[in-house]
Amino acid sequence: MSAKQWPLWLPLREDLAHLSPYGAPQVPAEATLNTNENPYAPSPDLAKAIADRVHRVATTLNRYPDRDATLLRSSLAKFINTLSGTNFTADSVWAANGSNEIIQSLFMAFGSRGALGFTPSYSMHPLIAKVIGVDWQDGGRRSDFTLDTAKAVSEIAKAKPALTFVTTPNNPTGTLLKIEEIELLAKATSEVNGLLVVDEAYAEFSEERSAVTLISRYPNVVVIRTMSKAFAFAGARVGYLLANSDVIDAMFLVRLPYHLSAITQAAAEVALEYQEELLGTVATLIQSRKRVISELEEMGLSVAPSSANFIVFSGFALEPSQLWRQLLDRGVLIRDVGLLGHLRMTIGTEAENRQFISALKEILKKI
Ligand SMILES: *Cc1c(COP(=O)(O)O)cnc(C)c1O
Repeated sequence: MSAKQWPLWLPLREDLAHLSPYGAPQVPAEATLNTNENPYAPSPDLAKAIADRVHRVATTLNRYPDRDATLLRSSLAKFINTLSGTNFTADSVWAANGSNEIIQSLFMAFGSRGALGFTPSYSMHPLIAKVIGVDWQDGGRRSDFTLDTAKAVSEIAKAKPALTFVTTPNNPTGTLLKIEEIELLAKATSEVNGLLVVDEAYAEFSEERSAVTLISRYPNVVVIRTMSKAFAFAGARVGYLLANSDVIDAMFLVRLPYHLSAITQAAAEVALEYQEELLGTVATLIQSRKRVISELEEMGLSVAPSSANFIVFSGFALEPSQLWRQLLDRGVLIRDVGLLGHLRMTIGTEAENRQFISALKEILKKI
């Protein structure tokens, strides 16, 4: 959707009038490979377990939910401890309706001195900053999408942002920061009394050590995770934050009362009990990613190295929007992320990946 003409009688904030709403196209397609979801649906077993738990909760829906989501936050702490060998408890965890709500709360609590990020990266970071009224500055990346950490460190020293955002593996490029690089940024941000926000929406697809392991030494490091991607739970809307307990205490100041519904909390708790099943598809998706990348390279296309469940490719002699449209005409929906000469494709099931590759071959043969 593009920015609309607002009527004069509507007292809309001036700084919002020129914005367009977030809008990955939700159009029907045979292969939906555009929003980085996990293509494998919950098993009938898990679906039944969720329905049973929600049924139980339904008998008490006249009451507000646990405002502090203590049980869920403690289960999330245990989950991360299992993955990363840490020893977090519930007071280092925050949970919300998707990690986008977490990002919004971070801006509301800590936005006063502005925020810095390194583009191309997740477009919602600057967009949510704008909506909250937080100044956003763009640091850059190299042309191969890697982050020049020395340059980033000097940008942090100069801008002294309250919040510095890095996404790793990065969306939309798939590229990775090493834990040593994150540590450099943690030092640089702590020197200006700023937080380093590490968005790890795709961490489960990467072999790099998680930035949660830095939190005990760098209390200014906050790590955003989500159940929407590897965890195959996008529809439930659950994101979470790992951070020093002082950061979590600040989240309590800005959250809306009872923001996380009893149904969401219950569904997420069941999903965590089924973590083996839900994360069981990660290895499959990584294998599929490798296959798709080598097929694309055989076709003469370039693919950025990816540590996530999507790839960004270039080297086709069409406008991205044209190739996007022609793929959609063949039932394959991928994503035009507005990167010159590039398109992004989410790894799907084997059948979906094959459909994508054969459609792509057909289109590129014709030009
Ligand atoms: C998908 C994505 C999110 C948002 O996830 P939700 O938890 O579904 O709100 C956050 N950050 C990045 C980098 C993402 O790609």
